[in-house]
Order: sequence, then C-alpha cells, then structure tokens
Amino acid sequence: MKKIAILRCLDTSAACAGTGCLRAFNEKSEGFKGYAGQEVQLAAMWTCNGCGDNKLANQEGIEKKIARMVKNNISAVHVSHCTCKKNAAGEEIRCPVIIDICRKLEVAGVAVIDGTHGQKATGERLKLS
Ligand code: SF4
Repeated sequence: MKKIAILRCLDTSAACAGTGCLRAFNEKSEGFKGYAGQEVQLAAMWTCNGCGDNKLANQEGIEKKIARMVKNNISAVHVSHCTCKKNAAGEEIRCPVIIDICRKLEVAGVAVIDGTHGQKATGERLKLS
C-alpha cells in the first residue's frame, strides 16, 4: 500500500483543524484525485517548525521529520496551499522555508506533490526550480 503525508504551515495550523485536507484525502479528490482506485494510507500530517514570532526552538527537528518520512517509506508528501503566502506585490508564492524542506525531501527520495485541497491543488509534482 502506498503511504503518503501532508505538510502544512505551523502558523496556519493555529486556527486550522485540517478538515479540508482530510476531507479531500478521504474522498480522493482535489490534490489527491490521482490516487483514485488505489489503496493509499495517510501516514503523517506534519508542519514546518515555524518562522518569525512563531519559530519553534527545535529547528533541527525538521531533519528528524524528514528522516521519518524515509524510515516510514512515505512515497510522497503533499504540500498544503496554506504554505503559500502573498508577497508585497500581492502575488501568492510558496514559503521559502517550505521550499527548502521540499528540496531536502526530494534529495531524500520522497516525492513532493502540490496541494491537498482547494482549486489550486494540482496534485502534480511540485516544481522546485
Ligand atoms: S515558515 Fe512558512 S509555512 Fe512555516 S509557519 Fe512560517 S510562513 Fe508558515
């Protein structure tokens, strides 16, 4: 059985119970539509370790989380749209901290997929260039 995970924004998680992500996963819709007809287990739901005033003390814990993805045979991590923020020009861009985590996941052999729920969740491999 394929095992996947969700990665989301710590800041947003203060007011988010993850219902949109879990609904879409259970329905195999939106960012998870590519799993239709497949047996898939949601094996982890994790956050970044924060930034600014919400930066957690244990920043090196991110490396442990990435190692857990590998150890637990997670084949793909879906990155929630809450990790996209508006810049000064009002454009939505993926948080650079998340991009760095995504690059490390790819180096570790874990695929990074764009989105969980919502219209912008493509369910395709995230472009990290
Ligand atoms: S580092 Fe990015 S994803 Fe993490 S809490 Fe800050 S804004 Fe959210």
